[in-house]
Amino acid sequence: MIIVFKPNASEAQMEQVHDYLSAHGFEIHPSRGKEYTLYGVIGNTQKLSPEYFKGFDGVSDAFRVVESYKRCSRSFHPGNTKVKIGDVTVGGREIVVIAGPCSVENKNMIKKISLDVVPHGANMIRGGAFKPRSSPYSFQGLGKKGLEYLREAGDRTGAPVVSEIMAIQDIPLFEKYVDVIQIGARNMQNFALLKELANITKPLLLKRGISATVEEWLNSAEYLASKGNQKIILCERGIRSFERSTRFTLDLSSVPVIKKKSHLPVIVDPSHAMGQSEYVIPMARAAIAAGADGIMVEVHHDPRNALSDGPQSLSVEAFRALTHEIEMISEALGRKFVRANT
Ligand code: PEP
Ligand code: MN
Repeated sequence: MIIVFKPNASEAQMEQVHDYLSAHGFEIHPSRGKEYTLYGVIGNTQKLSPEYFKGFDGVSDAFRVVESYKRCSRSFHPGNTKVKIGDVTVGGREIVVIAGPCSVENKNMIKKISLDVVPHGANMIRGGAFKPRSSPYSFQGLGKKGLEYLREAGDRTGAPVVSEIMAIQDIPLFEKYVDVIQIGARNMQNFALLKELANITKPLLLKRGISATVEEWLNSAEYLASKGNQKIILCERGIRSFERSTRFTLDLSSVPVIKKKSHLPVIVDPSHAMGQSEYVIPMARAAIAAGADGIMVEVHHDPRNALSDGPQSLSVEAFRALTHEIEMISEALGRKFVRANT
């Protein structure tokens, strides 16, 4: 349930509502904007009547939230959530670019790619260490060593690092080595993993499942938010459709839909969606134009010899060209792309 206060409601009036709800065992999620204050109420609100709260002094409205993803819904939290990772903010005016290889292949390559992409605009570095590969015979990632190399690359360049987690037992490793923990498309509905990740305080990046609806995706985000962590970034990465000319079908329509339904930031990964590097740049441009808060792209210094996802990886030169375009598009939209170290 949402309880909205009048603009001139006093602290004492709000406290009365607060005390009533706490005394009855409900959890309160306050949200204060410039022109409003509201309480999102969590618990078995079936027992509560909105009419009853409208009778409290200072209350202007009370209504039930229809969405099952309450904490992640825009009605619970009308303002945009900004996720801060060091100096980087996702969900504000800034457009954020996350770049790096699909997999951390060895210490030198992640160092080299990071030193190439960060000065040209990557605000964060990505690199997989535990890879969800379709074939058990494909390169599976370097595991812990990969996270260590990624951390070193992050420390050297000053850019926060993002990597995908696959298993509950690796949570302590990820808490130690990465700044943002990615939950991949294949694990979007691994509810056991989501429940455990709900206990941590680090920022989380939740990719859309390969055949998940926006509703299912937001419900998965709700698992992550269920213990109070609001540092969640959503990432559209394409869904499976009948179309075979691209690896997946990039559903950019989810961007404005998410913006309407949720306060969480949303970024787009055109690399996994398109599967071929030549299609990545046009869709990265379109993602920003559609209102995404940033993009995540795969970059490799030698895409033809990459151990995973070479065909969709941008060369360092192509990445540089992309960042110039992102800069122009961001400015045209009144947003800002801040290059690190320049
Ligand atoms: C990735 O980002 O490396 C990845 C495997 O992406 P997805 O989960 O979207 O397939
Ligand atoms: Mn990949």
